[in-house]
Amino acid sequence: MELLVDSFMKEVEVRNPHEEEFLQSVSEIAESILLYMEDHPQYKKYKVLERMIEPERVIMFRVPWVNDHGEIEVNRGYRVQMNSAIGPYKGGLRFHPSVNLSVLKFLAFEQIFKNSLTGLPMGGGKGGADFDPKGKSDLEVMRFCQSYMTELFKHVGPNMDIPAGDIGVGAREIGYLFGQYKRIKGEFTGVLTGKGHEWGGSLIRPEATGYGVVYFVQEMLKMRNDNLKGKRVIISGSGNVAQFTAEKCIAEGAKVLTMSDSKGFVYDANGIDSHKLAYIMHLKNVKRGRIKEYAEEFGCEYFPNEKPWSIPCDIAFPNATQNELDHQDALTLISNGCFCVAEGANMPSTRAAIHHFESSKILYAPGKAANAGGVAVSGLEMSQNSLRYSWSREKIDRKLKVIIEQIHQSCVQYGREENDYINYVKGANIAGFVKIADAMLAQGIV
Ligand code: NDP
Repeated sequence: MELLVDSFMKEVEVRNPHEEEFLQSVSEIAESILLYMEDHPQYKKYKVLERMIEPERVIMFRVPWVNDHGEIEVNRGYRVQMNSAIGPYKGGLRFHPSVNLSVLKFLAFEQIFKNSLTGLPMGGGKGGADFDPKGKSDLEVMRFCQSYMTELFKHVGPNMDIPAGDIGVGAREIGYLFGQYKRIKGEFTGVLTGKGHEWGGSLIRPEATGYGVVYFVQEMLKMRNDNLKGKRVIISGSGNVAQFTAEKCIAEGAKVLTMSDSKGFVYDANGIDSHKLAYIMHLKNVKRGRIKEYAEEFGCEYFPNEKPWSIPCDIAFPNATQNELDHQDALTLISNGCFCVAEGANMPSTRAAIHHFESSKILYAPGKAANAGGVAVSGLEMSQNSLRYSWSREKIDRKLKVIIEQIHQSCVQYGREENDYINYVKGANIAGFVKIADAMLAQGIV
C-alpha cells in the first residue's frame, strides 16, 4: 500500500512543487482510494484520480484598494474551481494572511469530497485572498470586498460558482461582496450563500457547521449506546464553527472546558455555559476582541501561544485551522483519556496525528464528513433561493440532521473494518469519491 501511495505521490509532487498543504490532502485521499481502485479498474483506466487532482480552473488576480489613510494597498485574490462533475462549484472564501495557492487547492480538493457526501448537487471550489480583516475598519473591509468582487464577478454565478464564507469571511464580508455583485450585474440572485436572512439567506446557516459536527458525534456515540451528557469537551477556535459547536454541546448537556484564538486558549474548569458563550459571541463577532479577555472577565486560566490539547477531556473538537493538532498532541489527548475527535476545521490534524488516532481505534471523524453541515445548509440556501421561498428553522434543522445521519451511514458503509472498527477517513473518502468518479466517467474525458 505504501509503495502504491509513494509512486502516485512522486508524480503529484513534481507537478505541484512546494504546495505542502495540497500534497498533504492528496496523499490522505490517495491512501484510501488507490487500494479501492485496484478492485475497480474502470477508475484507473480512465485516470479519474489524476484528473480529479487537477483543478478545472484557477483564477488569480490583483486586488487593489485604498485604506483609511488614503494609501494604496495591494492583495492577491484567488478562486480555485476544482471539480464540477456533480454540480456548480461551491465552497467558501477565506481572507487570511496565510492564504496562498497551496492552501486554497487543498481546501478546494477537500471540498469536492465533502460536497459529494452531502448528497446535494454541488461541485467543489474554494477562494479567498491574503487580506487580513483583523484591525481593519468596516469601511476598509468594504472597499477590499468591493475590489475583490469587481474581478470575481466574471467567474461566479448562481449556476456556475457559488462562494460562501470561511475564515475571515463572515456575515459582514458576505454582505459587502453580495452588494457589489448585485450592483455590477444589476440582478438579485443567489450568487453567494451565508447571506442575511432578510435578503435571501437561510435560517440555521450560521449554526450549521458547528451543529453538524455535534450531530455527527451524536451519531458516532449512538453506535456505542452513548450520548453527550456529562462529557468533557475541549474546543479550539472561537469563530463561527467553534461558537456553534459549543452552543450545541452545552444544549446537549456536555461540559465545554476550552476555547481559543490564534493568540492562546482559555481553560474554564467550571465549564463555559450559555451566558459565558454569549459573552464570547459578542467579544468575537461585535467587539472583535481577543479570547484572553474571557479569562479576565470570568477569572479563569489563560494560556498564551498554546493550544488546548493538553487539557484532559472525553471529546476534542479542533475547530480553528489546518495542521493545528500534531502527533504529540494526539499522543497527549489519548493518554489523557480522549476517546473521540471530530474535526470542525478542515484538515486540522497532521497525517501522523491521524495515523495515531487510527491505530488507537478511537472515534475519529475527519473534517470532510464531520463539518459538511455548513455546505449542506448552503445547498439548502441555494434551493430556497431558486424557489424564492424560505423554510422554517425547524424544517432546515431537521434536514441538516438527516443529511448528517446519511453521511455517517455512508462512512460506516465504506469504512467498516475488522472487529467492527469504523475507519471514518476511509469511509468518507471512498463514499465521496465514488459519486464524483461515476459522474466523471459518464461525462467523458473533459
Ligand atoms: P472564523 O474566522 O470564524 O474563526 C476562525 C477561528 O480560528 C478564530 O478563533 C481564529 O482566531 C482561529 N484561527 C485562525 N487561524 C488560526 C491559526 N493560524 N492558528 C490558531 N488559530 C487560528 O472561521 P470559521 O469558524 O468559519 O472556520 C474555522 C475552520 O472551520 C476553518 O478550518 C474552516 O475552513 C472550517 N470550516 C468552516 C465552515 C463554515 O461554515 N464557516 C464550514 C466548514 C469548515 P483569531 O480570531 O485569532 O484569528
